[in-house]
Amino acid sequence: MPDTETANLVIATVRDFVDREVRPVAAAHDHDDTYPEALIDRMKELGLFGLTIPEQFGGAGASPTLYANVIEELALGWMSLTGALNTHLLLALMIQESGTDEQRERLLPLMADGTLRGVLCITEPGAGTDVQAIQARAVDDGDHYLLTGSKMFITNGRHGDLYGVVCKTDPDAEPAYKGISLILAQKGPGLTVVRDIPKMGYRGIETTELSFDGLRVPKTDLLGGVEGQGFRHVMRGLELGRVNVAARAVGVARAALQDSIRYAQQRQTFGKPIAEHQAIQELLADMATDVQASHLLVVNAAAKMERGERADLEAGMAKLFASEACLRVATSAMRIHGGVGYTQDLPIERYFRDAPLMIIGEGTSEIQRQVIARRLISQYPDGDLLRDSL
Ligand SMILES: Cc1cc2nc3c(=O)[nH]c(=O)nc-3n(C[C@H](O)[C@H](O)[C@H](O)COP(=O)(O)OP(=O)(O)OC[C@H]3O[C@@H](n4cnc5c(N)ncnc54)[C@H](O)[C@@H]3O)c2cc1C
Repeated sequence: MPDTETANLVIATVRDFVDREVRPVAAAHDHDDTYPEALIDRMKELGLFGLTIPEQFGGAGASPTLYANVIEELALGWMSLTGALNTHLLLALMIQESGTDEQRERLLPLMADGTLRGVLCITEPGAGTDVQAIQARAVDDGDHYLLTGSKMFITNGRHGDLYGVVCKTDPDAEPAYKGISLILAQKGPGLTVVRDIPKMGYRGIETTELSFDGLRVPKTDLLGGVEGQGFRHVMRGLELGRVNVAARAVGVARAALQDSIRYAQQRQTFGKPIAEHQAIQELLADMATDVQASHLLVVNAAAKMERGERADLEAGMAKLFASEACLRVATSAMRIHGGVGYTQDLPIERYFRDAPLMIIGEGTSEIQRQVIARRLISQYPDGDLLRDSL
């Protein structure tokens, strides 16, 4: 794991990349909804696709905290770029923790340098929050599986290479989660990208509908080599995914706050900068408090993961608070900028369109509340949530 000095260097490098290479082109990619091929190539060169993959497999072995910091910095420039890393590193974590030795040695080095880009296929037209309702099947065909089914909202579905397909190996299992497996598929006859789904925000990085129609996958590509473990893999991986989405929310909110503070000091009404009007000061104060609190919740969740402890409560809180805060902050930035905030001349309207994704992806706010409440009651039946932190 990198020491503090190395971690600071990584953050400074990402900041420099964002300032010099991302900011100048983000608006054009967003408005035209064009795939940022050159930026993705640079992210590979910078080693970002191997950020959390252990050094023994060619990655940087970054801690969840460093990972969250990097995601925040990228989202500060353009949130979409963080989506290229999220399911990739989430899938890599699942392979690292649950894969067979052969899967780890074969796949992780190729993922670390971005040769194989990871995709996570959970959602279907009829199953999002309710993962156990998925219909995709892996049918036994000797030493292969045949994958069939539709997957919906799959980020990186066109440019990705390694698809973690959550599907049923035993559709009759009771409870249903015991029949779910995760299969590591690659492109071939039987996998079709049906379409890129048009989106209000989070543009440039594709979100796709996929069709599996008899894609043959060797049984050696069943994650971990044991059927029925897919639901467990997904739930564990989602902890890191929720830290990613929460950190993205902090990055977007930070950008909206920075732009608003700058603008409020320049824009004059009634003979003084709008920053001197109490109503604007109240907005700025609430925005800054939201940003700071969100950041601290993300750091808290990442630190818990770093200690190797179960962090679904903390990751759920970070994701819930930071995503809802980001929506508030983006809306306040729009208010502060007045008419110009509504135009495509400034990135304020982009923050406003990007922010709602964070309350949906990696589990909606409603589901985070359920995760938090369930865990709270089982882990802290006396309600003394902070006893371990003091
Ligand atoms: C841009 C984008 C990218 C995405 N990328 C991926 C990806 O790469 N891979 C992938 O697998 N998925 C991806 N998703 C899917 C995403 O994870 C789902 O959209 C999300 O989990 C919600 O599922 P759903 O859309 O089916 O909503 P539904 O499950 O239909 O929920 C609809 C509403 O009902 C609420 N609800 C549902 N169940 C309950 C309950 N028990 N109690 C209270 N309220 C409830 C929800 O909170 C929500 O408000 C992506 C989505 C988007 C928009």
